Amino acid sequence: MKFKRPIRIALIGATGSIGSSVLDICSKFPEHFKISALTACSNEKKLIEIAKKFKVKKLCLTNPITESFNLPEYDCMVGVESLSEIVSDNDVDHVVFASSGVSAIKALQIALKNNKDVSLANKESLVVAGPWVMPLIKRPNQLRPIDSEHNAIWQCLRSDPHSEIEKIYLTASGGPFRDYSIQQMEKVTPKQALNHPVWKMGAKVTIDSASLMNKGIECIEAMQLFNLSVDKVDALIHPKSQVHGMVLFNDGTMKMLMSQADMRIPTASALAWPERLNLLNKNFELIPLSEYDLNFKEIDKKLFPCFQLALDAGAAGGAYPALLVGADESVVNGFLKGQIPFIAIPKIIESVFSKWQGSIPSTLEDAIALVDEGKRIACTLIQNWRNNN
Ligand code: NDP
Ligand code: MG
Repeated sequence: MKFKRPIRIALIGATGSIGSSVLDICSKFPEHFKISALTACSNEKKLIEIAKKFKVKKLCLTNPITESFNLPEYDCMVGVESLSEIVSDNDVDHVVFASSGVSAIKALQIALKNNKDVSLANKESLVVAGPWVMPLIKRPNQLRPIDSEHNAIWQCLRSDPHSEIEKIYLTASGGPFRDYSIQQMEKVTPKQALNHPVWKMGAKVTIDSASLMNKGIECIEAMQLFNLSVDKVDALIHPKSQVHGMVLFNDGTMKMLMSQADMRIPTASALAWPERLNLLNKNFELIPLSEYDLNFKEIDKKLFPCFQLALDAGAAGGAYPALLVGADESVVNGFLKGQIPFIAIPKIIESVFSKWQGSIPSTLEDAIALVDEGKRIACTLIQNWRNNN
């Protein structure tokens, strides 16, 4: 069967780290992909550079720094509401969500409702709004995960019914502090935390990887994506980051997906599904057979309390995943600005959970408001921490 090419892509979050992986794949396979629209938050200079290179006319900045984002040679849009227009455009077949934060959740809903193919890198959307996003999927594989672990599980499940899953395992490199002691954790600096041993990513997700909050958040993301309860989802430290995800089936068989740690590989699989692109022809590296490593160990939850916190939030559901996302954004910012130490990250988030008094979200708007509430409570607690230390 021949699939329609080129696929017309709207790229939300074009100026970021995942955005650049998507653009690299599109530039290597111009016969497969054509970019129809590009969006960023405020980085106008980089957005225009990309637009020139990929000959894209439709651009959007959700939060432009100046009022003057109105260039005659482009169709310029501003504001987060414009994302909804972009993703429902008839010129778009496939929408890639590579922005950070929760601002694109409504656009994600609209893309699915309009029957577009969707590749999703953004984690926050499903963690905060899984119950309002997942029911909108109209057909199998309409929503394809780019996050490497979820992409691995998705690929392992290409031909298997979910009812036969016993458990899924996400892998974690363990980040720069995997061999630290609890005492050493007390002194880590933003520079050390930003120095990820394997993946090159945006700052927020790099700090979350160092605390293993990222892995906990990914477990919640996996629960939503694959409709699994918390006891069916786990994560293991795998320092080589060659295996990205594993599925244990109820007959005792295990499938795992291995590849180089390069975000362009899961990105290409999501964009081109059900085909595979010949990346090896484009000089992508293979793991030499002699270097395959199957070493896994359990996550030390005392050393990485953020992992357990996120699992607890996922198991509790209701308001907690959204509060977690909001609080985590504030504490990571606070840590990067030198306002709080690394070990305060889980302590402050835990206090956010205990301080929060409210009701379970019944609408998407309620859930998004809880993200802001989590941010707000965490900011107050950061201020208290600074006053007392
Ligand atoms: P970056 O910080 O590198 O890039 C973020 C992108 O989103 C930029 O284009 C940025 O625009 C845009 N953006 C930021 N804030 C907003 C907003 N409020 N509204 C609309 N757009 C916004 O992030 P990453 O590429 O690292 O990550 C993107 C998402 O993918 C995150 O959810 C992350 O958790 C997830 N992810 C990332 C991985 C990675 O390897 N990097 C791996 C797996 C998942 P501007 O440049 O103008 O600020
Ligand atoms: Mg990941």
